[in-house]
Amino acid sequence: MRIKPEEKNSWRHVWALAEVLGGQVQPVTHELLGIARELADTRGQQVWAVLLGAGTAGQAEELIAWGADRVLLVDEPQLRGFQDELEAGLLTRLIGKYQPDILLGAATARGRALMPRVAVLCETGLTADCTGLAIDPDSGDLLQTRPAFGGNILATIFSASHRPQLATVRPRVMRAREREEGRTGQVIREGLAAGDSPAMKRVLEVFQDRESVVNLGHAQIIVSGGRGVKSARGFDLLRALADKVGAAVGASRAAIDSGWISYAHQIGQTGQTVQSKVYIACGISGQIQHLVGMQSSDTIIAIDKDPDTPMMRLADIAIVGDLFEVIPEIIKEIDRV
Ligand SMILES: Cc1cc2nc3c(=O)[nH]c(=O)nc-3n(C[C@H](O)[C@H](O)[C@H](O)COP(=O)(O)OP(=O)(O)OC[C@H]3O[C@@H](n4cnc5c(N)ncnc54)[C@H](O)[C@@H]3O)c2cc1C
Repeated sequence: MRIKPEEKNSWRHVWALAEVLGGQVQPVTHELLGIARELADTRGQQVWAVLLGAGTAGQAEELIAWGADRVLLVDEPQLRGFQDELEAGLLTRLIGKYQPDILLGAATARGRALMPRVAVLCETGLTADCTGLAIDPDSGDLLQTRPAFGGNILATIFSASHRPQLATVRPRVMRAREREEGRTGQVIREGLAAGDSPAMKRVLEVFQDRESVVNLGHAQIIVSGGRGVKSARGFDLLRALADKVGAAVGASRAAIDSGWISYAHQIGQTGQTVQSKVYIACGISGQIQHLVGMQSSDTIIAIDKDPDTPMMRLADIAIVGDLFEVIPEIIKEIDRV
């Protein structure tokens, strides 16, 4: 809602909306709590985790270990499955009651459906898919940075006269803090109220799309291929290397668009964001739309014929050569030791 500058201080706390899938709190929630903690500490605010679900009460204390000072828990059977209209109305009522300064959600299918509804109901703005979040030291506003114009610029957006400030963050973009055993906090229980809109749908069954099982987001090692891999058969070579080192297989959009591998493997601005320990880029030039999805990996190894690509310049280890010669040599070497 629109506020006057002198009203800013009556909006307190940084809220992180727990991502719940199949009744389980997802790891992206820990990442949201990590950045929420950082933002809240800048202004001496509290971090609240908001946990909406059915049968999820047992997971509330765990969110305190991941950085929440308070957990706002609504555990109601009506919240089984994802009820976006119901959750949006409920969240809006809770926002009105507790007045959080900031609400962070995951840029997942659930967050992307829920957060815009909340923004509309609260008459405030929302910045989706943020890659950076910080507090402006002068105004105290949330600086929300995200790629714009096809990833060619990074735009920093802020909401000077509306509260709460809403932002979504993709999984693996922010880092979770270390889990802190024995950390103490408070769980506040809330329920559904008579005025909350009823659930509009009934979830009969939840099943996982086989394609979406490619869990790149949490892979420790990724072998990723681009246009340089040249064909679907070329990806068999990458899979052979991936099998040897226990890696998942990723791809650039050029490889997806060529039909060599499915979209579930795409890394980058319009694909998944990854934060692997080792990222092996094979025949990927490293355009900005790809880099935004993988550049925070710990160690980047690039194999390319051209030594001057952005990926080769970014890489910790850059191997200049034909990937169809280099990769079999690496596999041979692994087999030898
Ligand atoms: C709005 C928008 C969103 C986008 N989103 C994404 C996204 O999410 N993810 C993404 O990846 N891209 C995305 N793109 C596309 C992006 O701009 C690039 O076009 C794409 O990343 C290029 O893929 P590439 O590096 O595989 O291909 P290229 O840029 O063609 O690079 C191929 C590389 O392979 C090397 N090579 C060729 N043969 C060999 C060989 N035998 N051995 C070794 N090296 C070889 C070449 O030297 C070259 O460096 C997006 C673009 C737009 C406009």
